[in-house]
Amino acid sequence: MTFSTLGLSAPITQAVNEKGYSSPTAIQQKAIPAVLAGRDLLATAQTGSGKTASFVLPILELLSGERKLRGKRIRALILVPTRELAMQVEANISDYGKHLNLRSMVMVGGVDAEPQKHGLIYGVDILVATPGRLLDMAHQRALYFDELELLVLDEADRMLDMGFIADINKIIERLPEQRQNLLFSATLSRQVRSLAKTAINKPVEVSI
Ligand code: AMP
Repeated sequence: MTFSTLGLSAPITQAVNEKGYSSPTAIQQKAIPAVLAGRDLLATAQTGSGKTASFVLPILELLSGERKLRGKRIRALILVPTRELAMQVEANISDYGKHLNLRSMVMVGGVDAEPQKHGLIYGVDILVATPGRLLDMAHQRALYFDELELLVLDEADRMLDMGFIADINKIIERLPEQRQNLLFSATLSRQVRSLAKTAINKPVEVSI
């Protein structure tokens, strides 16, 4: 199996080849076609499985067509538990998206908010954020969710362990109802299942 047989187009498969990957991992083989088909996804996958590319690659593909960025708007939101993971995910987006013309940005707490506000002025295609800072920025009207097409909850179990559930729920309340949702978690605890119930809709379930 190759990345192009999964439905990814040349600018993306070329970037993947340049990373030296010869074939998609198990999670990528299952997740990528489902995401490209517009389905919601509930994925149980560990770090090291190639899970990041399993959502980043199809999101790049879905957003690479017609580009309609508006000021302070984002098209895809990836929520992660930590600043380190946010930077890793964004580095993947930049790498895999290097032949595309999409804007991505990290928004995390513990650093000056002003450059983040500035970065949002013309809109961002893919925002990677931790829940607390994102909610803060939304309250300050630094960004609006009315153009949001895609939500990813990455390492959902860790976000719940870190006490982000209230913030996540407040964020979800602000999102358009019509959107595609992907949830990744190392474990499917009762709490994760409960979050999945409120956040995602008739998902394809993938477990590796
Ligand atoms: P992740 O599970 O997303 O943290 O990825 C674990 C590691 O696997 C990262 O260093 C990726 O760059 C790498 N990786 C992702 N997809 C592939 C692939 N298809 N073939 C080889 N390595 C990969």
